[in-house]
Amino acid sequence: MLSKIAQNITPSATCELEGVVSDMEAAGVDVIGLNAGEPDFDTPQNIREACKRALDEGKTRYINVPGLPALRKAVCEKLERDNGVLYKPGQICISTGAKQALNNAVMAVVNPGDEVIIPMPGWVSYVEIVKLVGGVPVCVDTRPDFQLDLEAIEKAVTPRTAAVLINTPNNPTGAVYTRESLERLAALAVSHDFYIISDEVYEKLVYNGKEHVCAASLSEEAYEHTIIVNGMSKAFAMTGWRCGYTAAPEEIAAGISAIQGHTTSNSTTFVQWAALEALGHNEETVKEMVEEYARRKEYTYGRLTAMEGIRCADVDGAFYLLPDVSWYYSRKHEGKEIGDSFGFCSYILEKAHVAVVPGGAFNAPKCVRIAYTNSMEKIREGLDRMEKALAELE
Ligand code: PMP
Ligand code: GLU
Repeated sequence: MLSKIAQNITPSATCELEGVVSDMEAAGVDVIGLNAGEPDFDTPQNIREACKRALDEGKTRYINVPGLPALRKAVCEKLERDNGVLYKPGQICISTGAKQALNNAVMAVVNPGDEVIIPMPGWVSYVEIVKLVGGVPVCVDTRPDFQLDLEAIEKAVTPRTAAVLINTPNNPTGAVYTRESLERLAALAVSHDFYIISDEVYEKLVYNGKEHVCAASLSEEAYEHTIIVNGMSKAFAMTGWRCGYTAAPEEIAAGISAIQGHTTSNSTTFVQWAALEALGHNEETVKEMVEEYARRKEYTYGRLTAMEGIRCADVDGAFYLLPDVSWYYSRKHEGKEIGDSFGFCSYILEKAHVAVVPGGAFNAPKCVRIAYTNSMEKIREGLDRMEKALAELE
């Protein structure tokens, strides 16, 4: 019989939908995917070459659990350069994607029964990752502009609060948390002695001159209370490579490495050589990708807000928009009510062959998540198809 933990886990809606879309494509259906939380760009050539070189040089064996010393050093340099925080290589653990890094971080600081505050809407995996260690997810709403609601977070803090799990820029809302809100959060973490697990995988994807603020950079005390989670997937179009990392205070970092030593050991050796290349040499490529995302965001936002019944917050990060489409829930298709975000997405997928993710999966039941991780041409066609399908509802 399945364990209580396995029974209690909800499969990842984003991963499942990706499977449905791939199956439809394999069956020859012309689906436009505005669902995928991954860059549509190819991994830059120099990174692929570095991986091939590593393979040819025989970099195929086990290495230290927390990763290649050279890569951990490069991560420290990146953290100092981009985020203004000083870490030693011993505080870094390279993991199999930011997903493993998050699981490691939660496992390292959350005891069974401990509470973890999660601002919502939030990424599908956060609640489940907390449940995997027997922790208690405490979901707290963000403000209408999707910024942190510090009063609500403060109210949710109890003596059992072990951590707050934040993600800026945010999946699924696209919000980039302000410095002031992070300062207030850091003050709470320090005074109530809990950790900020700060998922910064979208840090490079900020538009309109907005700044990404790293929680650990706010003060020495904030640093002591923060675990940074980051990775290569989003910034360098390396989702399939599975490479992420944590940066943490020394004691926590040692715990994270010990945990990883019993789960996966080191993350794939030759991938780490590729990641080393990525961290050092791709400023220009990243800049080009960000400019393209910024153009797509403006276009998608403009189109969505021009559609009847749709409202959308204007946000400046990641590659998502989270429009409120609840106006359509009472509409019908062939006599059947759309009902909720899942019904909305099923209808759009079946009728228009456009894939978007139900907000219900992110605690945003009135919304759907639209990822602009497709070419401008496909985004245009996808939105045209969606608009037409919505106009056909009774
Ligand atoms: N955090 C967030 C907010 C994400 O959207 C993702 C994307 N899957 C991850 C972490 C995990 O990324 P990775 O591919 O590095 O595991
Ligand atoms: N993070 C991406 C998303 O939200 C990829 C899928 C996943 O790992 O959840 O769509």
